[in-house]
Amino acid sequence: MRITALAGGVGGARFVRGLRHHLDSSPALADSEVTVVANTGDDISLFGLRVSPDVDTLLYTLGGGVEESQGWGRADESHVVQSELAAYGALPQWFALGDRDLGTHVVRSQWLAQGVPPSEVTARLAARWGLPERRIRLLPMTDTPVETHVVVDDEDGGERAVHFQEWWVRHQASLPAKRFVVAGLDRAAAAPGVLDAIRQADVVLLPPSNPVVSIGIVLGVPGVRDALRGTAAPVVGVSPLISGRPVRGHADACLRTVGVPVTAAGVAGLYEDFLDAWLVDPADAGTTLPRARVEAFDGPLLMTDVEATARIAAHALRLATAVSA
Ligand code: GDP
Ligand code: CA
Repeated sequence: MRITALAGGVGGARFVRGLRHHLDSSPALADSEVTVVANTGDDISLFGLRVSPDVDTLLYTLGGGVEESQGWGRADESHVVQSELAAYGALPQWFALGDRDLGTHVVRSQWLAQGVPPSEVTARLAARWGLPERRIRLLPMTDTPVETHVVVDDEDGGERAVHFQEWWVRHQASLPAKRFVVAGLDRAAAAPGVLDAIRQADVVLLPPSNPVVSIGIVLGVPGVRDALRGTAAPVVGVSPLISGRPVRGHADACLRTVGVPVTAAGVAGLYEDFLDAWLVDPADAGTTLPRARVEAFDGPLLMTDVEATARIAAHALRLATAVSA
């Protein structure tokens, strides 16, 4: 089976790890191929290095190197370089850059400077983490540099745009966001393999990633939404909200900014033109959608560990079979 998932960082990575676990423990599914299309709108240049937070979280989580309790960054991490940068007063200091993690950013930046496109850089990084052997193909959504910015009120009555990471990490999404502006997105081309991975999939999955600033950005890459509308594959999503609250992060602030109700149905509405089925928490069992089938998971929709996540992924795949029958 060919499965394609659109993903942000922590939510996407944990879901795909559970999905892979389910496939590997089902003999009939073990040779399935999983293609992950990663959001790159979070990308940022820091200290001359290109950082790609969602791609890195996917690499570390799927490759077994993630700091588990945090959900991102490297396990067994130190911060010697960052403390040296701080001693020089080098800015910004609000973005955590561990020493092991910096290795990824240094080699990525070196390859990019040599003219290697991001999709090939990602493939090289994924090789180190053993993703091809695990039948996981990790694709950035685009090779075009794209950056999500957040428009906020300025002190002098005007507006200013801050990088998404500054809004999310430094301000914890507490500055009222007026709108999101994604520099470069309208002119971005889908990375090699992305549109075909959607068109030729047997199943397309939307993990419980942030619907606005993760999946919403991937959907903004020209051609992606049309490919989802046109694919013969069933498209099944997993709700990132439980009882109107994000499980982690600030998806509620993001949804309010784009004027969408902070509910499982509100999120599904963002996918209305291509979504076939929507998996929700039992607390949201009353959700109805005009076009898509809704099912409640038989337990909390929480990716507490790999086994629990594998059961969520298995339910999503059963739903895919049910709606395509
Ligand atoms: P980020 O890029 O690291 O912010 O990660 P993603 O965009 O992939 O995922 C963030 C979303 O995942 C948030 O909206 C969370 O509510 C959702 N999420 C995280 N953990 C869980 C979980 O265990 N269950 C569900 N249903 N959603 C989750
Ligand atoms: Ca992210």
